[in-house]
Amino acid sequence: MPAARPLIMVSGCLMGLGCRYDGQIIAAPDCGAELARLAAIWLPFCPEQLGGLATPRPAADLVGGDGAAVLAGRARVVTREGTDVTAAFRHGAEQVLAMARAQAVTAVFLKARSPSCGLTPAMGVTAALLARHGFRLREF
Ligand code: SF4
Repeated sequence: MPAARPLIMVSGCLMGLGCRYDGQIIAAPDCGAELARLAAIWLPFCPEQLGGLATPRPAADLVGGDGAAVLAGRARVVTREGTDVTAAFRHGAEQVLAMARAQAVTAVFLKARSPSCGLTPAMGVTAALLARHGFRLREF
């Protein structure tokens, strides 16, 4: 019986989906090449859309701490227009966690510099929740 192909969840914007806050489509050849090398089945997701936010939408930033602090209630996510979107970010993260738990996910590839998905410069809300539950994360 052939070995099962790894199932890797991927930030949708890394795979050419127009889910970014500004609706732009970005190229991320490193991620695509890595998925091809691993012969992986990939499952795209966007926690901000899953949290109920529209596309396009105002850019948002972590305020008062990183994603782990947001999950602990010690920090917030606020748009550049001043709207508190913490609840949507938390809800989106929980949706992504539910997806990951429902599948035999091998790893999660995440978009850098995102208040949801990023691992750097600060861990985003979704990244923090996935890390807390032991998922293997990699940033592109
Ligand atoms: S929330 Fe994640 S998947 Fe969605 S646009 Fe931002 S970085 Fe990409």
